[in-house]
Amino acid sequence: MEAQMKRTWAEVSMKRLAHNYHNLRALTPQGTRYLGLVKADAYGHGAVPVAKELEKLGADYLGVACIDEAIEVREAGVKTPILILGCTPAEYAEDLIKYDITQACYDIDFARDLSARAVKAGGTITVHIQCDTGMTRLGFQCDEGNIDRSEKEINEAVRLPGLKAEGIFTHFSDSDGSEEYTMMQFNRFLDIIGRVKKGGFEFTIRHCANSAATVLYPATYLDMIRPGIVQFGHFPDMNMDPGLCDLLPVLELKSRVATVRTVPANTPVSYGRTNTTQRETKLAVIPVGYGDGFCRGFSNKLEVSIHGQHAPIFGRVCMDMCMVDVTDIPDVKEGDTALLYGVDDVPVEQGAEIMNTISYELLCVLAKRIPRVYVD
Ligand SMILES: *Cc1c(COP(=O)(O)O)cnc(C)c1O
Repeated sequence: MEAQMKRTWAEVSMKRLAHNYHNLRALTPQGTRYLGLVKADAYGHGAVPVAKELEKLGADYLGVACIDEAIEVREAGVKTPILILGCTPAEYAEDLIKYDITQACYDIDFARDLSARAVKAGGTITVHIQCDTGMTRLGFQCDEGNIDRSEKEINEAVRLPGLKAEGIFTHFSDSDGSEEYTMMQFNRFLDIIGRVKKGGFEFTIRHCANSAATVLYPATYLDMIRPGIVQFGHFPDMNMDPGLCDLLPVLELKSRVATVRTVPANTPVSYGRTNTTQRETKLAVIPVGYGDGFCRGFSNKLEVSIHGQHAPIFGRVCMDMCMVDVTDIPDVKEGDTALLYGVDDVPVEQGAEIMNTISYELLCVLAKRIPRVYVD
């Protein structure tokens, strides 16, 4: 562990992950299943360790974006069902069977192709029917103009040989924004489920609640919730009421002061000389840069925390380093820890606001060269 902490590292707390898991579970009635998202390397937290921890905690399902992510988690020994929410070329039917991976089924051509390949391979592929109720991305289209056709197609898909239609789901596009639009999507979802039921087919797992719906709309839970970002302690929108659920950020990004130097007034600092000292200034060089996913857009804007005090980034963030002003922080020396994204101070949300983005993105872009160190 010490060796991983020589430059910049991400501390991932399994205790805080468990805290969030239990508090999210506590929102749902007994019997509601829990699908934990581990796509995009578990939002930068490390897919395999997070998947193993969620399995240990009792998650019923795991969600990924693509087959490589699913296989990575399976090969690590995780037995929990895994749902691929994105597209998989039907050519990979045999891998879906071999690794026992559930696939989202998003249109009739894909369903027929997957069915034929499963039959040929002599296996069965578990699928969840994906409904597009207003996200306008993947899924059988369930808007007024298309729902009759989609009903027929879904009725066909769920009866295809080689496929086992275990679930049906949809994805909300604005559940952290418009309640009206979210409920319109939810009603379209209930409508298609009702139509298919009338046709004689019932799904075991109906699901639609992402993070925002999980904390805002209990009516949408149905058989399973599908939380992503909230598991990692962040709200989908930083203006959401933190009272909705007691969550703790799981990841802290930390670095070590590489060196400290004092320069006179009128000294330009870093590429492009975008900032020049106004006074004699003590600068700490921090070994983190945009090559680590620590955004160049933070230049002259973000503050990091050293000895519990804020040190503003001075000049441009380079690929591998940046400089921070520690003139007013006593006794900063080589080897001191700098907190870049923290739990009690300097939250990642601050960086997200500067970059005009969301916490999801800053976590996902943390580079491979940043070791993830698992604590607690
Ligand atoms: C990513 C994703 C989620 C989780 O979204 P969060 O906002 O992180 O909760 C749920 N469902 C689908 C289909 C997704 O792609």
